[in-house]
Amino acid sequence: MVKEEEKGIPVRVALRCRPLVMKEISEGCQMCLSFVPGEPQVIVGNDKSFTYDYVFDPSAEQEEVFNTSVAPLIQGIFKGYNATVLAYGQTGSGKTYSMGGTFTQDQEHEPSVGVIPRVIKVLFQEVERKQDWAFSLKVSYLEIYNEDVLDLLSPVRERTSQISIREDPKEGIKVIGLTEQEVACAQDTVFCLEQGNNSRTVASTAMNSQSSRSHAIFTISIEQRKKSDKNSSFRSKLHLVDLAGSERQKKTKAEGDRLKEGININRGLLCLGNVISALGEENKKGGFVPYRDSKLTRLLQDSLGGNSHTLMIACVSPADSNMEETLNTLRYADRAR
Ligand code: ADP
Ligand code: MG
Repeated sequence: MVKEEEKGIPVRVALRCRPLVMKEISEGCQMCLSFVPGEPQVIVGNDKSFTYDYVFDPSAEQEEVFNTSVAPLIQGIFKGYNATVLAYGQTGSGKTYSMGGTFTQDQEHEPSVGVIPRVIKVLFQEVERKQDWAFSLKVSYLEIYNEDVLDLLSPVRERTSQISIREDPKEGIKVIGLTEQEVACAQDTVFCLEQGNNSRTVASTAMNSQSSRSHAIFTISIEQRKKSDKNSSFRSKLHLVDLAGSERQKKTKAEGDRLKEGININRGLLCLGNVISALGEENKKGGFVPYRDSKLTRLLQDSLGGNSHTLMIACVSPADSNMEETLNTLRYADRAR
């Protein structure tokens, strides 16, 4: 299963189309996307078609998305590869649903559980299975809002000016001043997820809220060592990212403070797009990758491209009323391949 991943394909893209939601149905929206059974292909209207590594139509459940596209990355973690899963798409397209960013423990056994809780479960199953290895796991959860880094696990929700991003020769990119919670089991880890999700929700207001304008990054860092060999230690990390909404900022709302927000959010997504397409190019000719142009890409620098595995889950609504943003997402995701 891992074989394919080891070929060093910098970024894989999964397109995920959610079902029409009640609001869209009651407004009389029609589906503007169609799917070819057994092909990783989506067709927009009658003509334009796009192909990705994986395409999940509206009937695809969380389990299938996880098993097909995310689970292979977890195997890589245990071999020392860093990995990143990014959910991209307009607000309302299913990013948070897909990632599991509203998870609470009472949902544990429901099929609607998203990527992060599933990752946690499988990760610790593997840790338990590997009896001859010693593990140390840490979790952090942050939000990038207006190019500021906010600590979602900090007891006080400070606008942490003390937080800075550095590059450590041994540990790679490090976020100085960020809470790193040691976790010994899946339950500890899920608790951190819930705690951070709460901080995120509390800070947001309505539909056009902070959470749709910020990137949320849940990171699990793992240090592993063969018990029989003191010098066998290595590290890897896994970033699970719920990106800011990709929709264009509406002019009427982009005034004063809001204007600044809009521009900065777009900066992260813009830079991510540039980094990802540069990674595709790099394979061919060793070009420059502009990681330093945003906090988002700087933070993910050692986990995007190079020796790491990246999955972008591009989320779209099937409704004709969202066609324009859906096309933008399909094109952005196409650039990533
Ligand atoms: P985003 O985080 O991109 O703004 P959400 O994840 O909040 O979007 O999804 C918007 C709405 O659509 C939510 O009510 C969510 O439960 C629903 N939804 C998203 N994806 C799916 C899916 N695959 N199946 C069923 N409902 C979904
Ligand atoms: Mg969301």
